[in-house]
Amino acid sequence: MGSLHEKNEGNTKQYKNQLDEETLFIVSQTFKALSEPTRIKILHLLAERPHSVNEIAERLEMLQSTVSHQLSFLKNLRLVKYKREGTTMIYSCDDAHVMGVLEQMIDHAQHH
Ligand SMILES: [Zn+2]
Repeated sequence: MGSLHEKNEGNTKQYKNQLDEETLFIVSQTFKALSEPTRIKILHLLAERPHSVNEIAERLEMLQSTVSHQLSFLKNLRLVKYKREGTTMIYSCDDAHVMGVLEQMIDHAQHH
């Protein structure tokens, strides 16, 4: 009986260290968000300061429709947020963890 009890404790401990489905889904979606050059450029620009959709399109020389599409992807993952100023939407970063990962990755790419 003693050995069975130990076995159960071991299983419980292992279970606690396992990633649940929701966590796995969010982590993989977040890496997916960071795996596209356009989205990397948008997030890196927003790390500087908040920008409107127009400003992002101008700075990155991209179509406004492309920028809007990518911003909604990033918004769904809660990586960006917006506030309305009149008819203008001002976007900014909404997650310090992910921005930290992105900046680390940029540093990594540039240190060689
Ligand atoms: Zn490195």
